[in-house]
Amino acid sequence: MRDDATASAAMLGLPGFRVLAVAAYAGEVEQAVETVEEVTGCPSCGVVAQLHDRRPSWVRDLPAGGRPVTLVWVKRVWRCREPWCPKVTWTETSAAIRPRASLTERARREACRRVGQDGHTVAGVAADFGVGWATVMAAVREYGTPLVDDPHRLHAVAALGVDETAFLAATPTRSTTYATGIVALNGRPRLLDVVHGRSGNALSSWVCAQDQRWRDGIGVAALDPFRGYATALRTTLPGARRVLDAFHVTRLGFDALDQVRRRVQQHTLGHRGHRNDPLFRIRRVLRRGGRAPQPAVLGPADRRARGRRSRPAGRPGLDRRPGPTADLPVQNPSPGRTPPACLVHRSGRTRDPRTPAAGPNAGLLAQRTTGLRFDTGGVSNGPTEAINGLIKKIKRIGHGFRNFANYRLRLLLYCGVDWHTPRHPDPRAATTLSCVEPAMRCSRDG
Ligand SMILES: [Zn+2]
Repeated sequence: MRDDATASAAMLGLPGFRVLAVAAYAGEVEQAVETVEEVTGCPSCGVVAQLHDRRPSWVRDLPAGGRPVTLVWVKRVWRCREPWCPKVTWTETSAAIRPRASLTERARREACRRVGQDGHTVAGVAADFGVGWATVMAAVREYGTPLVDDPHRLHAVAALGVDETAFLAATPTRSTTYATGIVALNGRPRLLDVVHGRSGNALSSWVCAQDQRWRDGIGVAALDPFRGYATALRTTLPGARRVLDAFHVTRLGFDALDQVRRRVQQHTLGHRGHRNDPLFRIRRVLRRGGRAPQPAVLGPADRRARGRRSRPAGRPGLDRRPGPTADLPVQNPSPGRTPPACLVHRSGRTRDPRTPAAGPNAGLLAQRTTGLRFDTGGVSNGPTEAINGLIKKIKRIGHGFRNFANYRLRLLLYCGVDWHTPRHPDPRAATTLSCVEPAMRCSRDG
């Protein structure tokens, strides 16, 4: 059977310390602890020191049993026996509990993990641990910054996704402030960085800060079609194929289709669409491509505009359309579903006119939900949108952020860092009985 000291040391789990006493008080647990070091030498002359005094020091530790824990570290004050030694007395120190700290180091590490990996609020973790907001935030900064600054985080990136998110909402005196998120699309999608602003400059500065080998490794970049990102990527990553996401292209097309429908509505009936107007009634049918029945209101030309269902499978779908989209590198259109004509014209307009049609920059559209098939190896901005969802989640959890450095740190800790947290197995599948056997032996003996 284990003695009380071994059991309490196992409960404490703080190497180099042992428990002297435990008490529950006002919904909290107080543990008096001391170091196991009985003998020490003078740091100045090396002579064996003499115990001079004991001084208690209070520090918060990891919560136990749902209650905040206070460690009362009964510190030893040592005295040098040598009368000539300048080091008269000194108090013992430990790497586990820093001088004047309000949290033990393991609690600070765990506070950082809970805020960073679990996405908990700083205020919530501070309440659980029984300390202030600033104490937890300082721990998040201290333990989180090395994880975020780790250069290995950016290794093995072959496909890049770029999109914008709002950072600060507009106020009467200021417009919305945006941030650009840069996401690794290959492997497990992860946030590489967040930079202030949504301009091409913001993105190119970030890319230029990376070394040439890293930049050469990027084969594909998926981007939002509306910003200066395409230009920034063309100049900073000339070898990467840029991909416009089919979602954005489709949205552009639907917007254009709606505008045309409204214009024709105004032109023919002189008012906006009412409930029984044919054009208003088909507003959703127009978006459904070949799946919906052809409504009587659509003439032959309209049907052609809605979708060219008769095209043989395997032929390039959009290659003969006039205007800027004629050279879109679209391959293998899926039978039955093609976007409306105005979609491709509108999306063609958002394309960078200086981009040559052939060559490594030709890939424009990503394969995704619209049923279109394009030659980008399946890369799309989908994972970027997923990361955007996580970004918005952290923003909501924090009730918004004002400090961009804190915002970036929290985002990267939540969706840009691999925490390597060990997984614990189901205790019911335990194979060792290290604790149970002695306890059962003890109860039998009793
Ligand atoms: Zn000394």
